[in-house]
Amino acid sequence: MKSQNVIIIGSGVAGLATSLFLKKAGMESTIYESRSDEELETGAGFLLSPNGVKILDEIGCKNEVIANAAVIKRIQQINSENEVEAIFNNHSEKYHHAPLINLMRAQIITVLLKEVQRQGIEVKYNKKLTSIKQQPHSVQVLFEDETVITGDIVIGADGTFSKTREAVAFNAKLDYSGFWGLQGVSYVKDFVLEEATSYFYNDEHFQFIFGKAHPTNQLNILWQAFSQRPEKLPAKHFEKASKETIRQLLYQQMEGWNIPKHLFDMIDHTEMFFPRSIYEIKDLSVWSKGRVVLVGDAVHTANPFVGQGASYSLEDAMVIAKMLRDHDYRDAFYYYEQDRRTRTEELNALFQHMNIQHDIDRKMNEYHIKWEEETYV
Ligand SMILES: Cc1cc2nc3c(=O)[nH]c(=O)nc-3n(C[C@H](O)[C@H](O)[C@H](O)COP(=O)(O)OP(=O)(O)OC[C@H]3O[C@@H](n4cnc5c(N)ncnc54)[C@H](O)[C@@H]3O)c2cc1C
Repeated sequence: MKSQNVIIIGSGVAGLATSLFLKKAGMESTIYESRSDEELETGAGFLLSPNGVKILDEIGCKNEVIANAAVIKRIQQINSENEVEAIFNNHSEKYHHAPLINLMRAQIITVLLKEVQRQGIEVKYNKKLTSIKQQPHSVQVLFEDETVITGDIVIGADGTFSKTREAVAFNAKLDYSGFWGLQGVSYVKDFVLEEATSYFYNDEHFQFIFGKAHPTNQLNILWQAFSQRPEKLPAKHFEKASKETIRQLLYQQMEGWNIPKHLFDMIDHTEMFFPRSIYEIKDLSVWSKGRVVLVGDAVHTANPFVGQGASYSLEDAMVIAKMLRDHDYRDAFYYYEQDRRTRTEELNALFQHMNIQHDIDRKMNEYHIKWEEETYV
């Protein structure tokens, strides 16, 4: 029997997309989000690869998301001497029937949320999950405001620091991955970026990527920096540091680089910084327990060099809803994990050994899931 009272925790890309796929499968869900509705559209942005863009098509959001993103057709790989080492032309529209796009997180959240509202799916804000109690025929969710909700199943889409995860595998740990990530949104007056191009500056331990992320916004340059660092930076020197401290950290990384002035201008003109130490989930032996299952960053953290976190979340959303459409929740959770664990672990492992682009591009887009096809029958 289909679960009709689904509780989704978290309204990021994973939670919103899951609610839309469940609706498509004929199931009702309610989303509970710890933040207020004004805080929801925060975060910088990401590259969304064709496999993720294709999933958006299944929930009717592809065109609007693309209209609010920059379509990337070329990737320039540049070294610290400012020499272009390689230019990769991206033909994903031809080969994978969807583009590679660069976009602000706020844009995709806005489009998904609009569709969620249009379909009458309820999102309840200021609802911070504190614990979950499994019952023989239902599941109870407790929030910080001391309210209690009962449902058939819970889908934890509450991101890297997931509380839902405790109800699935209490021993699972979040370990610092040895990387930090930093994103920013900026505008530089006299700097004309090449259309449809993403720029990758690279040295052994540090990467700086930037490109347009919106077709018209003035504040439309999205940049991302990743660095290897064995010890985790304390929050007061990173996540909670002043803008000036963050700028200095970036300049230190680029010390000795022969980089153009516009790159410094870009950093100087960045008003919003999003610094994050990057974590990986350890000892998560199962992805579900009883009536609770995890999706998105709550269940797998993607190395940012993979650039797949948002796409994985969209794929998860479609697969979990398909499984629930076709099976009792116990089998659905089991099949979902079989499918998704293999996919994410294989792809993450490949990125450790393969060179940028070609093979990875193929592997990412070789994942064929069609909504109409039945699963495991
Ligand atoms: C530096 C960096 C760069 C990245 N670059 C890329 C990239 O280029 N391409 C890409 O595809 N991905 C990238 N990613 C990953 C991508 O951002 C995530 O994988 C994706 O956004 C996951 O979405 P999610 O919905 O699972 O989690 P989130 O977006 O974290 O959403 C979780 C939601 O749950 C809510 N929540 C949390 N706890 C509770 C609670 N207790 N109760 C209720 N609600 C709660 C939160 O407020 C939030 O709204 C990057 C990540 C990082 C860190």
